[in-house]
Amino acid sequence: MPFISDIKDINALAFDFVIVGGGSAGCVLASRLSENSACSVLLIEAGKHNWHPLIKVPTGVGMIWKHRHFDWKLNSTKTPSLNGREIELMRGKLLGGSSAINAMSHVWGAAGDYDGWRDAGCDGWSYQEVAPYFSKSENWTGLQNEHRGSDGPVTVSPAKSADPLYDAWFRAVKSCGYGTIDDYNGLPDGALLEGFARSQQTIENGFRVTAWRAYLAKHMHRRNLYILTNTHVTRVKFANNRAHQLEVISERKQRQTTITIDGSLILSAGAFHTPHLLMHSGVGPEAVLDRANLPMVIKAEDVGRNYRDHMAVQISFRRKGKGEFHHDMRLDRLAVNFPMAALFGKGPATRLPGAMHGFARLNSSAAVPDIQFLFRGAPKHAGPWWPLVSSGYQDGFGIRPVLLHPTSHGTVEPAGADPLTAPIIDGRYLSTRDDMDRLLEGVDIAMALADDPAMKDLRADDASPIPTDRKQRAAWIRQSAVTAHHPCGTCRMGPDERAPLDKDLRLRGVDNLLVVDASAFPGTVSGNINACVYMMAEKTAAMLISTNRTR
Ligand SMILES: Cc1cc2nc3c(=O)[nH]c(=O)nc-3n(C[C@H](O)[C@H](O)[C@H](O)COP(=O)(O)OP(=O)(O)OC[C@H]3O[C@@H](n4cnc5c(N)ncnc54)[C@H](O)[C@@H]3O)c2cc1C
Repeated sequence: MPFISDIKDINALAFDFVIVGGGSAGCVLASRLSENSACSVLLIEAGKHNWHPLIKVPTGVGMIWKHRHFDWKLNSTKTPSLNGREIELMRGKLLGGSSAINAMSHVWGAAGDYDGWRDAGCDGWSYQEVAPYFSKSENWTGLQNEHRGSDGPVTVSPAKSADPLYDAWFRAVKSCGYGTIDDYNGLPDGALLEGFARSQQTIENGFRVTAWRAYLAKHMHRRNLYILTNTHVTRVKFANNRAHQLEVISERKQRQTTITIDGSLILSAGAFHTPHLLMHSGVGPEAVLDRANLPMVIKAEDVGRNYRDHMAVQISFRRKGKGEFHHDMRLDRLAVNFPMAALFGKGPATRLPGAMHGFARLNSSAAVPDIQFLFRGAPKHAGPWWPLVSSGYQDGFGIRPVLLHPTSHGTVEPAGADPLTAPIIDGRYLSTRDDMDRLLEGVDIAMALADDPAMKDLRADDASPIPTDRKQRAAWIRQSAVTAHHPCGTCRMGPDERAPLDKDLRLRGVDNLLVVDASAFPGTVSGNINACVYMMAEKTAAMLISTNRTR
């Protein structure tokens, strides 16, 4: 077993790669880099190793979110553009990271996203150059085309849930003049991402696929792979332009120690914690470090800047009658279905009620969609209900327009000199007029679909569940917008000197430090971002392996 049980053993070992953060990117890197038995890899994760049934069973995600299990419990600052609200910013704190608590949607994004990265000076990141790494990471079990992968570690399956609701949505889509697509991933180079489709989900034989399960669980025999869990990295120390040591605190034993970096250090602690760790290590904007009483080691203006996220609103409708999901949430049925799913990966608890995605451009000359639509075949308040004493919750369904390319950018900053205190995250969400206008247009499209005659038999009432007046609708958005949990860009790559990373994701001014996770995105992409994080880690691992070979 590669798990290191006592942190004091660590100093007797030397590693070619030390990876901080065992989330989506960290698991890919640890797996690929340790394929070569001559290369030793240490993965350090602040959370635990956990394979709780709520993680395994796809519908367990509702309870994970409700109780914020396996989560860092971060929130935004009070945001003026959201009526002074703090919004929750869940992040996974366990091996597998946020892939273990996410909604399991698998989306590559648009070709135009990556061509945009290339055009912004990130050579090597065009769609044509990144597509092979998306396909390398996946095992797509749906209809194949030449771009999809079929033997990668991340199993991706077409959504399995069936409900007359989804058929009605598709009829509404067509009647409103929008297109449908069979596969929104693996589109040919130059094709636009536009239209409505069944969802694709990271579910394998009825079980959630986490980065841990896909990339590392089956390699526990590797003698060159070491894993430290419950260990929080608090600081990187530099010497002679190199990352030289890590200061870490073992949460289990409250023991503090240092780990020497002999080879390369890779930060994969995610879009909030990677910039936080860098700033606690003296890498960041001078004024921000000053405010937090942190000595500056390397000036890097855009560490903790450029934070982007996908904001969304949920439009909820009451349903005439009750759907399959409501039926399956009855407690006596759930008492059978949940264990069946946890043990055998079978039955209704393996099927998520979100079965459709849509992508729309608001401007016909745009290369990427502006809005993603997520459909939910259950209301927000869906939950287990007792038979005999009630007939259950009022059934419903929802549509969620997501603003894909926000012009509002936020910041991540340290709260003070204590590295264990959570970062201050100010998203400035929807603070530009353009963002609000585009989200309003997304809401208009969603309402047009919901008002289509195709939906009539399923809606319990004709009245709009949200204000119809534009000004009031904007106020409703400010009061109800939430994140789709896709933070990125807080330690971006770019050709300019402000960008902390170069195109190979190396921290400028340091010889042996890379950042590989969602914080390295130069901009966001058109959809859920986990597949993009896998791609980025696959591509960087391949680059590191080939550089090592030629040395
Ligand atoms: C609720 C939710 C729903 C989502 N739904 C979807 C979806 O349906 N589809 C999709 O594509 N994406 C979704 N996402 C987003 C996606 O899962 C993340 O963007 C992706 O997992 C980020 O990968 P990462 O490697 O950048 O960070 P993470 O996976 O978050 O990994 C970071 C890891 O670093 C560890 N860490 C942090 N700080 C330290 C430290 N100082 N020392 C040691 N370890 C540390 C963390 O514990 C964590 O394990 C969702 C995310 C959430 C939270």
